[in-house]
Formats: sequence, structure tokens, C-alpha cells
Amino acid sequence: MKRTKESTDSKLVISACLAGEACRYDGRDNLVPEFRALVEDGKAVTICPECLGGLEIPRKPCEIRVVKGERKVYNVKNEDLTNAFKKGAEKALSLARNAGARLAVLKAKSPSCGCGCVYDGSFHKRLVPGNGITAELFLQNGLTVMTEQEWLTQKFKEESIMEKKINLGIVFGGQSGEHEVSRASACNVIEVIDKEKYDITLIGITKNGDWKVYTGDYKNIKDGSWEQDTDKIHADFSIFHDPIIQDVDVFFPVLHGPMGEDGTIQGLFELMNKPYVGCGVLASAAGMDKVASKMLFESAGIPVGPYVYFKRRDWEKDPDRIIDDIAGRGFPVFIKPSNMGSSVGISKAHNREEFIDGVNEALRYDHKIVVEGFLNAREIECAVLEENGEIKAAIPGEVVASKEFYDYEAKYSDNQDSKIVIPAQISDALLEKIREYAIKAFEVIDGSSLSRVDFFVTRATYNIYINEINTMPGFTNISMYPKMWENMGVSYAELVEKLIQGAAVKRVNS
Ligand code: SF4
Repeated sequence: MKRTKESTDSKLVISACLAGEACRYDGRDNLVPEFRALVEDGKAVTICPECLGGLEIPRKPCEIRVVKGERKVYNVKNEDLTNAFKKGAEKALSLARNAGARLAVLKAKSPSCGCGCVYDGSFHKRLVPGNGITAELFLQNGLTVMTEQEWLTQKFKEESIMEKKINLGIVFGGQSGEHEVSRASACNVIEVIDKEKYDITLIGITKNGDWKVYTGDYKNIKDGSWEQDTDKIHADFSIFHDPIIQDVDVFFPVLHGPMGEDGTIQGLFELMNKPYVGCGVLASAAGMDKVASKMLFESAGIPVGPYVYFKRRDWEKDPDRIIDDIAGRGFPVFIKPSNMGSSVGISKAHNREEFIDGVNEALRYDHKIVVEGFLNAREIECAVLEENGEIKAAIPGEVVASKEFYDYEAKYSDNQDSKIVIPAQISDALLEKIREYAIKAFEVIDGSSLSRVDFFVTRATYNIYINEINTMPGFTNISMYPKMWENMGVSYAELVEKLIQGAAVKRVNS
């Protein structure tokens, strides 16, 4: 495959759906605002090879299949549409030539426009190496072809080299019970950021929810003493109008738990039209809500352990009914707030009395409570990373807890008795199955950027159950997520850099 030597400033031909034309098989578009702007500025022309080949909108989805050594295109009803695809490719090539374009940015994975990989013809979303019909013809005729992600990544790199340093807004603290771990994670992240390449704007959120820009020494963040460094604090500003905030190019919300990892702050960044590290609104919200995520996991065919849930109003109305129901299922059980992370508000109940205490504790953090049946199981975690549109899962690690279960204290104190073991000491087949489920879980919540997916593997039977997905996992330099990537040869500093770069090119429809 020919990779570009062209600058992203070269005259372009681009897939029409990337510029916002509703020409996809399902009548939708794949809008990336940068490409629409290029068309509006006269720097790019659009092509939709499938429309040029005479196919209608909407149309049945198509994939490429190799039949007797020949690449053919079939729709999902097994109708052979190869000729229409070839005709569209020829017309697209002639339009590109007339426009004087040497560089084509084409929508990834499409049977016409895909470059590098396309679906395998099974209609099971399986990718295989190869190019779409138009992409292949363009390459054969000397055009440079890139996917939209490759173009955006290259543009980001060119801008990084040629232009000002990128202003990175590190947001830390937050209102959740995980405020302290956020501060520790933020400190470690700042430590490894390349200061030649990035200017850093520190934005602290206090436990009360006040936003403050901090210009002092970042080392004061870890123990919270930055809040007393009042000379270096700029407060009382409007997020939408303050120039310090508006000058941030990319946000890195190193925030865990509610009001940080749950889609709320992600929605704010969307409203501000600023790129950010981490999952988008839907994935963050779905990932934070244990009940919603379990339902999604079940819909994707990922095994979920036994659970029930109820709301504060159910508990207040008829606690005995709930207690009887749980007792009928059998103790012990885990009681968890549906929206919380890092084991905050979680307890284990061996009898009715402990269950009542556990529910009251969990209700301090959320109105929705999930009760999970006890599994005699090991806790295995798997790190997922999206890089250039590709979703990768690291080799899983295992949490070996010092206490009866891995609670907040065990997770974030320097408790040497709680250990993480990477790779987890289970069979290769189980490791691979967990990686497969982790990617499925990431996909089903519509994840992007990063997540850590936690599983249970039962001790006696080796059954795998998904526990939860964390869309902004603990990110201190000793946390499981970075340690799993370190085991894959990606250092903590490289991981931080990949996440920032990924955010800078991330767009709603990527
Ligand atoms: Fe048209 Fe290509 Fe977009 Fe498909 S991927 S809708 S063929 S422009």
C-alpha cells in the first residue's frame, strides 16, 4: 500500500460521506468537520464511488469476497454488484484526475473506499487486509490514499511540528469519592508529558465542584495542598468565556467516578467543541452505570454474573420484600452503588443485618443499587486502547487482593499486600477469550480512546464473567491499566502521548 508523502495541504479528493453527504448505504453520513471545511474552502472535491456507479441511497450493505481468485462485491442478499463498484471507481478516478488531486482521503473499511483493511464478506464485521475497489484503483494509478484517521493524525503531527505548542488542559480532582486518586493520577500524567511539545494548563475541580486554574507547582496537586496556594489560583471564571480555558487545545480529564467519568464533563467538552482524552458521552455514561452496562454486555453475548437492582424509592417503600428476595437467593452478596467506581460504597453482606447496612452505605453514593451474587472467583482485568481507529486489548492482569475484596483502600493505598500480577496466571485460551470480550465490551458501549474491562474467572470451573468497564481507569504509574501496557512494551510516557494524540484527532464520527 502506498503511504503518503503528500502534505495534508495538498489538493484532495475525499469520500463524500466524510464531508457530510448522506450517501452511505443507510442514508447517513460520516461527517468529520475538518473535511467539510476543506470542501467549503475549495481545497477538496468529494466522490461517492457507489453513487457514481449508479447505486441508490439507501442500499443494502456490501462486502468484498474472493471468488475463484477474483475480488467480487456482494450485497447482504448475495447479489453480485461488482460491475457497479468498478464503474463507480473509474468515474471517481476520472473526477480525481480532473481536479488535479494527488491525494485521496477515503473512508476506512468501506468496500469502495477502504484502504488497508476491509470487511471479509461474511457480514460479521470481520476485517481482513485489503483495499476497497476504488482505493485499489487509485493506488494502481499513482494516487496516494489515506484513511480519514491517518490524514487527521498526520495533520496533527504537522501542526505540532510547525505551529505553536499544544495547550493541554489537565483536569483533576472532581466531586466524586475518587477525588484523591484523580489527583495522584494527574500528577503522574503531568510528570511524563513532553514539556517541549505541550503547554500545560492545570484545572482543578474541588470536592465542592469549584473550578480553579492553578499556575503553581504541579507537585502540590497530589496531597491537595494546591488549594491553599491561593496566589497561584485563578477562580471565579466562566468556563465558556475565560480565555485561559478557551485557549486549551485538548483536554485530558484525569477524573474518575461521577461528574468526571460519567459523560457529564464529556458533554461539557462537546458543547465547548474541544477534543478530549477518553470515551465520549454515551460510553462514559453507560460505563459508569453498572446496571446499564450489564444490560449492554448481556446484549452483546458477554457472560454477566447473577445480579438484581433496585432504586432508593423501592427500598424506602418495601425494604422487607427486597431483603427477603436477596435472602432467598442466598448470601453472601456484594452491594454496590450503580454509579460509582474504585470500590467506593461497596460492601459484602453475609446476612440480613449486614445487607441492610450495606444498602444504607451504598445509598450515600447513588439512588440505584446493584446487588451481585458472590462468585468464588479471581479478578482479571484487561486494558483496551484505541489507536488510529484500531481497538487493541493488552494481555490481562490479575488483582490479588490483600483483603476480603479489593476495596478503595486496598486499591489506592501503598498497601504492599495487594498485588497485581501481569500476565494473569491463567491459560492462554482464557487470556485470549478475556481480550476478545474486553474488545466486545468496549465496542458495545461505543467506547473510544481507553478503558479497563474487569472480569471474574471462577476458581473451580474457569467460567468468565464480566464485572464492569472503567472508561477512565486509575492512571497512577502503579495502576493496573498502564502496567498492562508496560507489559506490552508501551511505557507510561508513551501511553500518555498516544492518548493525547488520539484525542487531538478524535471526532464524533470517527
Ligand atoms: Fe460513498 Fe465511499 Fe462514503 Fe461509501 S464510503 S458512502 S462509497 S463515499
